Amino acid sequence: MTATVSAGPKPLIEGQRNLATRIGVYVFVLLPFAALIAAVPLAWGWGLTWLDVALAVFFFYFSGLGVTVGYHRLFTHGSFKANRPLKIVLAVMGSMAVQSPPITWVADHRRHHAFSDRDGDPHSPWLFGTSPVALAKGFWHAHMGWLFEHSVTNKQRFAPDLLADRDIVRINKLFPLLTGLTLILPALIGGLLTWSWWGAFTAFFWAGLVRVAILHHVTWSTNSICHMIGERPFASRDKAANFWPLAILSFGESWHNLHHADPTCARHGVLKGQIDTSARLIWLFEKFGWATDVRWPTPQRLEKISAK
Ligand SMILES: [Zn+2]
Ligand SMILES: [Zn+2]
Repeated sequence: MTATVSAGPKPLIEGQRNLATRIGVYVFVLLPFAALIAAVPLAWGWGLTWLDVALAVFFFYFSGLGVTVGYHRLFTHGSFKANRPLKIVLAVMGSMAVQSPPITWVADHRRHHAFSDRDGDPHSPWLFGTSPVALAKGFWHAHMGWLFEHSVTNKQRFAPDLLADRDIVRINKLFPLLTGLTLILPALIGGLLTWSWWGAFTAFFWAGLVRVAILHHVTWSTNSICHMIGERPFASRDKAANFWPLAILSFGESWHNLHHADPTCARHGVLKGQIDTSARLIWLFEKFGWATDVRWPTPQRLEKISAK
């Protein structure tokens, strides 16, 4: 939880989604998901080239690190300070993951930390009970069900700092354009490099739709799986857990127990052997002088938050 969130009387919810946003959520959540399901049988013996794979991996990292380093560790938790060009680039990269504009994402996520696994948390798997049926329902809600709810988290309450940042407000408005770009750019590159409409189409399918869908599920897994199963070596006041199988795909975000125990820490994989590519990228930005005041973990801090 950051100090910027006031505990004042502002309500949790600022209103209901308009029709265009509701339709947008359905289209851009379900269309990539449908592509992902279609991709499984199509992957064998159908148009998947090495170029498609390379483009998909590139855009997966580009948009995924935009979310983990930009949306999450910088904008939500302030685990480092970025110079203006880096801040803008990270906001654009994160927008290209098609997970909502930055201010909406940050407001929802700060609310998640404020009420973690209690009433008010927008996506806890523990709100329905602990019976098998309740947990199945909770898993669905935490993973993607919550996306289809109509209430909008109050941005004035949870993200006043970003609402006051003109660069971020501008990028926030560009979200529809950046959503289009993240799907069209792979098609454009694929089409130009193969000089064919087919090459454009397969790149659009794999590096556009399927890549967005896989990244969606990885991010949502942090909300569902990482609040249900895994190890809890640190003391957090919720059910957040470290789930190692997702460490690489999630760019280090699945070390979620440490994250909830110490939300502003720039590195989530703090223990030996815990790969955290987001932290490595922040380290690089620090070396280049683009990132400052990085909140790296210290032995004293880790000792303080370790589960006794
Ligand atoms: Zn969490
Ligand atoms: Zn967080």
